[in-house]
Amino acid sequence: MARIIDGKSISAKVRAEVAEKAARFKQQYGRAPGLDVVLVGEDPASQVYVRNKEKAALEAGMAGKLHRLPASTSERDLLALVNQLNQNDAVDGILVQFPVPSQIRQTEVIRTIDPRKDVDGLNPLNAGALASGDTALAPCTPLGCIRLLREIEANLAGAEAVVVGRSNLVGKPVAQLLLLQNATVTVAHSKTRDLPAVCRRADVLVAAIGRAKMLNAAHVKPGAIVIDVGMNRDEHGKLCGDVDFAAVESIASAITPVPGGVGPMTIAMLLENTVTAGIARLSAR
Ligand code: NDP
Repeated sequence: MARIIDGKSISAKVRAEVAEKAARFKQQYGRAPGLDVVLVGEDPASQVYVRNKEKAALEAGMAGKLHRLPASTSERDLLALVNQLNQNDAVDGILVQFPVPSQIRQTEVIRTIDPRKDVDGLNPLNAGALASGDTALAPCTPLGCIRLLREIEANLAGAEAVVVGRSNLVGKPVAQLLLLQNATVTVAHSKTRDLPAVCRRADVLVAAIGRAKMLNAAHVKPGAIVIDVGMNRDEHGKLCGDVDFAAVESIASAITPVPGGVGPMTIAMLLENTVTAGIARLSAR
């Protein structure tokens, strides 16, 4: 039976570390590190996400502020708020919750956030920095995956890693981070031929697809470590990952559950990124 990688307890550990860093930050700079979250519209899932982010920030002794804008907000008005937060010296991290309503271009929002405050790590400058090997502000979920692997002392150097999914948010940055850990990385996607065979090469298999229980026993090499980023609903409306946990649990050596695996790590790494961003910006003066 696979070891279950407990994202809940590991994220609690990361958040405790962040709380210590936040306290030191406060001593040094006379204020708590500030994370400002912007929510446009009333999407129920997004409402839960942003509330959790705000709550976690406050619990870590940080200053968290939530800006709620109506669904009818124009791109211009949203960008004006982002620019205002860019200028506000007490704001260390800016997160605009995606998706945004269709009248707003996500790419414009990402480009407008000051790269020094881009705690989601999506601004092209930060994405480019990551591609060049600078992990200063990498996307939170991929950072969470790597932290989980570190916590279980996975031996990544020389390991075969297969990432299924190539989004800018998860797949690509996970692959880049694994490469920086000296894994031999394959990135698979919807056009990949014979996906099961490609996945079975993996010592470390990362699923970032968005399809409930798509990866099964045929995709997993005995003893592989499986990191399941997926957050989907199964046929009964229950939260589940991209991996068929029940089918894979007896084959893998370690696996993240959904919920309770990668999910909790995303917020923890967001808080860590906020403190990192604040320190980098203020210490550069
Ligand atoms: P995207 O939809 O942006 O990307 C999905 C990727 O999966 C694409 O690269 C796509 O390939 C690939 N894919 C789709 N179908 C197949 C298939 N049949 N075979 C192989 N590859 C396939 O999703 P995200 O990266 O944003 O998210 C992925 C999952 O992770 C989602 O379930 C999301 O909810 C979850 N997630 C969880 C987070 C957390 O905190 N736990 C945070 C962010 C996301 P192609 O490029 O060819 O289309």
